[in-house]
Amino acid sequence: MSKKEGGVKSKAKSKAKSKTSSKIKKKAKKVRKVKENVIVLGAHSDDFVLGAGATIAKYVKEGKKVTCIIFSYGEMSHPWLKEEEVQKMRIEEAHQAAKVLGCKTIFFDLKEGKFSNETNGEKTVKKILNIIKKKNPTKIFTHSIEDPHPDHQAVNKITLEAYDQIEDKLKPEVYVYSVWNPVEFKTRAPALLVDVGNNFNKKIEAMKKFESQKVHTLYPRLISFFRDIKTGIRIRKKFAEKFYRVR
Ligand SMILES: [Zn+2]
Repeated sequence: MSKKEGGVKSKAKSKAKSKTSSKIKKKAKKVRKVKENVIVLGAHSDDFVLGAGATIAKYVKEGKKVTCIIFSYGEMSHPWLKEEEVQKMRIEEAHQAAKVLGCKTIFFDLKEGKFSNETNGEKTVKKILNIIKKKNPTKIFTHSIEDPHPDHQAVNKITLEAYDQIEDKLKPEVYVYSVWNPVEFKTRAPALLVDVGNNFNKKIEAMKKFESQKVHTLYPRLISFFRDIKTGIRIRKKFAEKFYRVR
């Protein structure tokens, strides 16, 4: 009897043991499942591709989750079309491009030239903070203050304003990318050179999705191309994207 009891007991024990070990295994699986999050902020629907497209594709391949926040649809570039038409077109193009790179997009629906006015500025900072709290990113990419486009500068300021309000333990690294600046930044912030390898093709493929902006973005497209080659040469690779860590 006692032997039997003992048997039952040890069976129960081993059952409990296997239960806890499976629990631990499940937990470990859960821990492994938490993906590293990266957020990319851009003023217009194609900025994330021009500034960081190949790096986004590379990060996604590495298993990171990349979310691109797009401030405006950029309806000002097509004044002869109805606003809704431009929006529809831009959303579709951005979705197609994001699909190529493997990232997610969030549209803020702000009017160009009005990102940091009284009504928009604070609201946008709050929106970004909420997304940051939810995603807890390790890295944030945004426009540079040295980029001559006023909307790009506004996005830089809003990003840093949001950053200042993040609790210390959650503060991510903040990098800036280039769009309209043909020459090197004057910043002395440390540079991050990302060897993007074959992902450069993904960037080109994603750029092609912006059919409606072909004419307007020919210049930044070209400089982006030459910049990536030049940066690649610096690290003896074919293509590389360059960022500066500002926080
Ligand atoms: Zn832009």
